[in-house]
Amino acid sequence: MYDNYHRDINYLRVSITDRCNLRCRYCIPKEGLSLLGHDDILRYEEILRVVRVAVGLGVAKVRVTGGEPLVRRGVIPFMTALKLLPGIEDLSLTTNGVLLERYAADLRAAGVCRLNISLDSLNREKYHYITRGGSLADALRGIDAVFARGFAPIKINVVAMKGFNDDEILDFARLTLERPFQVRFIELMPVGHTGRDNIGKYLACEEIRGEIARNHPLLPVPGARDRMDGPARIYRIDGGVGEIGFIAAMSNHFCHRCNRLRLTADGHLRSCLFSDAEIDLKDPLRSGCSDDRIASLIREAIAKKPRKHKIRPEGNYLGECGKNMSAIGG
Ligand code: SAM
Repeated sequence: MYDNYHRDINYLRVSITDRCNLRCRYCIPKEGLSLLGHDDILRYEEILRVVRVAVGLGVAKVRVTGGEPLVRRGVIPFMTALKLLPGIEDLSLTTNGVLLERYAADLRAAGVCRLNISLDSLNREKYHYITRGGSLADALRGIDAVFARGFAPIKINVVAMKGFNDDEILDFARLTLERPFQVRFIELMPVGHTGRDNIGKYLACEEIRGEIARNHPLLPVPGARDRMDGPARIYRIDGGVGEIGFIAAMSNHFCHRCNRLRLTADGHLRSCLFSDAEIDLKDPLRSGCSDDRIASLIREAIAKKPRKHKIRPEGNYLGECGKNMSAIGG
């Protein structure tokens, strides 16, 4: 499925819940969130139907996210059913890792082995602070559990924040010396109300890369982009077993290569993370629409995908992106 700018839209991100067991300061605004009601969330069978139709239109890559996907009841049977849908070449999950120790075996049995795990600090107090109460030990046990069970690739997502974890850049980078993780530094994005809450904390990937390169020989990984690594620029420290990725969504946006469509937890198609222009699928689904109708709504969303986002690193951009990340599905 090509959009108006010749981008092949083959990647669907599915948020299965807006609920989370953490309250990350850059994701959930300080005043909290009003959560969706049970009936506002797409049922699993509705999501599976949308994914099946999307696969028929050319989607080959699906990522399940949230909120925290592992807090939704029934997530394992759902992942199992997704994995069995013909045509999905790449199924992955984004999680904060806190429940991974409990779910590692079940996820593996469901056939899911590609994981992105969010981890913004290696320091117990700082982790507790940024997640508003989370336990670093739980997240680390989760990472150990999936590593021990042979999940691969394991990508560790670090949202880089000035004055918060800029002093941990080398610690994160050095994780890749001994473990085959891909540590990915993500630029802070002013999504929803959190943009206003986090002014002054943006840190460009180039600064992070520079700091690592001043301390370690950093080599670009050739051909990494062809391996479904998405927008990350991939490097490795000479001699290391893992990789380091940089996701410069703000300073060096990759809209010209964006192949994504999002399905929000409340059943809307969102063709750009930063644009609130969404297409409702929930009402049509619940009023008995045909698969053809779903397909035409998916095509409509793709046709409306903007050429590029206009978001700048700092400030309050609620005019363009008023939904918070936890509701969209990062
Ligand atoms: N709960 C899961 C997790 O923690 O990974 C999945 C949902 S979370 C919204 C998905 C990703 O979005 C995480 O890697 C998180 O760090 C990222 N994210 C959320 N808000 C962000 C922001 N304002 N800027 C950059 N990344 C953000």
